[in-house]
Amino acid sequence: MFLYTVTGKVGQEGYLDIEKSGDLTGKNVYVNMTNKCPCSCVFCLRQTKKQQENNTLWLKEGEPSVEEVLALCDKFDLSVINELVFCGFGEPLERLDDVCAVIDALKKKYPELKVRLNTIGLANLIYGRDVTPELAGRIDTVSISLNAPEEKEFLELTRSRFGIKSYEAMKEFAVLAKKYVPNVVMTVVEQVMPEDKIEKCRSICEGLGVTLRVRPFEN
Ligand code: SF4
Repeated sequence: MFLYTVTGKVGQEGYLDIEKSGDLTGKNVYVNMTNKCPCSCVFCLRQTKKQQENNTLWLKEGEPSVEEVLALCDKFDLSVINELVFCGFGEPLERLDDVCAVIDALKKKYPELKVRLNTIGLANLIYGRDVTPELAGRIDTVSISLNAPEEKEFLELTRSRFGIKSYEAMKEFAVLAKKYVPNVVMTVVEQVMPEDKIEKCRSICEGLGVTLRVRPFEN
């Protein structure tokens, strides 16, 4: 399932294939183009093979091509949706060029389309260069999972393949992205993170000049 809406229900019922989503007016439509990720977060649903295979977001048939994503999008009127969100079961920027190609085609058709990218913020480490200029004119909101108020805890939680430098790189990504993206947000999850740590994250975000969004806990 690579194009879906979110119902608000917990578990598998929480994701609804776009073909079964009914009227899309005012809804967010999510795009899931890859299973790949540089992290292996302790809380991630991708953690075990069984969980992966049982999850409707796991791309069993492999990653959809740009053409397949656009062909499915073409079946719907995306001018009525609230936001198109690149997220998914992996890190969307693992397919940077393809994500850009999809957005370019859709923004040509829908110039007012609002696009959000949910990311772990490690794309500059994945590519070994600053990729944030490529977000310009394509992404309206970048939402980066901050996860922790310091580097050691971030690494323990995300188990990033890039090691301890990941945290600083993620923060740098947020600052660089501000030059090209109107709205840069960092997120933490309430209840999962104690209040004192949330406050530390808040002051980190203030220092970086980005907004902290405390997301509700969903189990
Ligand atoms: S960054 Fe996201 S997709 Fe990647 S392992 Fe962590 S929670 Fe899962």
